[in-house]
Amino acid sequence: DTSQAGKILVLGAGPAGGAVALGLRRIGYSVCVISEPRPFAAVEGISERVVDGLRGAGFDAALKSLPAPTPRSVHWSGESSAANTERLVIRSEFDRGVLIDLERNGVELVSGRVRGVTRGDDGYRVEVVADSGSRTLQGIFLVEARGRAAPGSGLERLRGPETLSLLQYWAGPEMTPRTAVQSCADGWAWMAATADGRRYLQLTLDVASADLPPKDRLVEHCNSRIRPLEMAAPFIDGAEPTGELHARTSTPTLCREPVGADWIRVGDAAMAVDPLSGNGIFQSLSSAMQAPAVINTLLQQPQRAGLARAFHRARIEELFFRFARIGRDFYAQETLFAEEPFWRRRRDWPDQAPIHQAVKPRDVSIARRPVVENDLIREAEVVVTPDQPLGIWHLQGLPLAPLLRALRSARPGENPEHLLAAVLGEKKALAPQLLMWIRHQGWI
Ligand code: FAD
Repeated sequence: DTSQAGKILVLGAGPAGGAVALGLRRIGYSVCVISEPRPFAAVEGISERVVDGLRGAGFDAALKSLPAPTPRSVHWSGESSAANTERLVIRSEFDRGVLIDLERNGVELVSGRVRGVTRGDDGYRVEVVADSGSRTLQGIFLVEARGRAAPGSGLERLRGPETLSLLQYWAGPEMTPRTAVQSCADGWAWMAATADGRRYLQLTLDVASADLPPKDRLVEHCNSRIRPLEMAAPFIDGAEPTGELHARTSTPTLCREPVGADWIRVGDAAMAVDPLSGNGIFQSLSSAMQAPAVINTLLQQPQRAGLARAFHRARIEELFFRFARIGRDFYAQETLFAEEPFWRRRRDWPDQAPIHQAVKPRDVSIARRPVVENDLIREAEVVVTPDQPLGIWHLQGLPLAPLLRALRSARPGENPEHLLAAVLGEKKALAPQLLMWIRHQGWI
């Protein structure tokens, strides 16, 4: 009975912590989320695919905070385009919406700063400090979702090129919301304007080569890079820098071990990529969506702990490398500054592997891998390809490994559709369609 198991403590209420908490509530666990608001005003861009993902995770109130899609212009490698849109996420509003969604779904919320976590014989104790005083919370399982702020000492981590993003607010007359991206010799700028006249100008630089001045001259350094950019004109004309400059690390990081017997890391706490690919929220959500099944397995079926942990570790690593390679290919598209240190360090990192690998029948195999079924991790036969190293289990509820095995057992002259139909039984009408799909994937 999951409701009697004891409390699960989630540290951090961003998209990752929020998604895990909602998923655990659906299974029936009692969940307590401890979080404090982000200490600065951030605006981030997401695509419609991410909006769908957030909807699927159950973020109804958070989604209501999103404005309509905003036009996005890009100036990269000397070429301009303006075909795209993105949704601006005003994080303070979005994050407030996440808290509303959590509360509506029966999650206990504790507002305050996590100061310390200790583990004893009876589980975890988390010390929380708030304006109203400090308190200690107790739980049987810990979900670390404090984003990049999550402590990581003692963890083995892979780090990409050290990267820093400087965010300067500007204020000016009201303007139609829009965003723009532009590359420059020592990095790239992302600019956003919201309807209230606020503008967010963010410059991303290479820490090793940026030659950053002392803190008191950082604002001028940042503005002197932004002002000459063509794309910056609509954001800074008639506007003035306002407030303090905010520096955020945006170095890609991957925790080699993101899960233990009674703890798990999700979102940026497990793996964070460069903001260039604009996929941070998507990736955090992806790393969190199947974490409830991993936690449920660790708590209910400890004999399968190894399988559950291998599942989470492989997923985190796969997501990290996929998005790191997407970022690398964007960097490689910038050819004007290709020899500048910022661009040189990023165009080949993390490796040379293509985002999508060609699939030839001889590279396709059937293997046993962890899968999610009924909120638990179990092992099943899946089809593994160079492009899908974690394996594909189902297509519309139909297990694929038996279909591939049947096709591979074909004797000369045998009709492949008949072979599939024999495996499909009462769903045999789907055989022609499935055969086409399997051929299209390059499996046979
Ligand atoms: P977070 O959203 O960071 O949530 C963690 C929560 O934990 C926060 O509320 C924080 O206040 C809280 N917390 C931290 N420490 C404590 C503590 N000690 N006690 C209590 N609470 C605590 N992604 C995009 O999709 N699009 C973009 O345009 C984009 N731009 C980015 C630009 C930059 C410069 C950077 C660095 C990142 C950007 N991202 C972007 C990535 C995005 O911000 C993250 O990937 C995403 O927010 C991670 O979600 P999360 O839930 O893991 O962590």
